[in-house]
Amino acid sequence: MSASGWHLAFAGSRVLVVEDGAGRRIPSESDLATALATDPGALVAAHVPLPPALGQPCHAYDLPASFEAPPRYALLGLRALHALVPEDLFRAAGTALQKVQWLRTHRFCSRCGHATERHPLHEAMVCPSCGHLHFPRLAPAVIVLIERGREMLLARSPRFTPGVYSTIAGFVEPGESLEDTVHREIWEEVGVEVGDVRYFGSQPWPFPHSLMVGFTARWKSGQIRIDHKEIEDARWFTPEALPPALPSPMSIARRLVDDFLVRVAVLR
Ligand SMILES: [Zn+2]
Repeated sequence: MSASGWHLAFAGSRVLVVEDGAGRRIPSESDLATALATDPGALVAAHVPLPPALGQPCHAYDLPASFEAPPRYALLGLRALHALVPEDLFRAAGTALQKVQWLRTHRFCSRCGHATERHPLHEAMVCPSCGHLHFPRLAPAVIVLIERGREMLLARSPRFTPGVYSTIAGFVEPGESLEDTVHREIWEEVGVEVGDVRYFGSQPWPFPHSLMVGFTARWKSGQIRIDHKEIEDARWFTPEALPPALPSPMSIARRLVDDFLVRVAVLR
């Protein structure tokens, strides 16, 4: 392995960073060797070379979940890493974590139980016994901002940070188009009907392996009706009366909200 590039080592879902007088940063190869000094060969269970990002290759390492950061190092969750590194390096770290998680969870064939191996050509694990291929797992989900004139419908789940209201989101189910999921999730979570569903953009979301596909939609009919389980509150908000907190700036939910606020600013 070359000494250059980004070295992303994960214990569980946390990434190892150097913590010195200059702040926190992604370790170099020699930093990593120092951190793993006890027995690097045993600690580094997998190398996952990624496509070049930031002009340098990325390398992902799978550390034991029990690994503890030595002095001058720390283990950070991806969300904390977001505040620390440029967007493209954060994105590479998300990709690296997904690949490490995939290797961890596809060590045995789900069809026959035999130990799997890395496929020599494809990004897949292959079963040498029955030939079954196991590709990286990706769970598509829709995320949608519902608008009605100068109002947007935002909801909060009991799992959210207190005060945060966000857009409606949910996983795509087998047999559904993305548009089907948009209509179903909105109906299930807030009980309204929408039209004019438009693609907004998408975002890889490595928590743990989603692809968020963003849409906007216009309210057509219905009063807000919530189930008080997945959603504990949902309301129409105007730019003048926003919820106590908006979704994290790292999320496509926030991009949807910010885009709406820019668009309605001209409607005053
Ligand atoms: Zn098999």
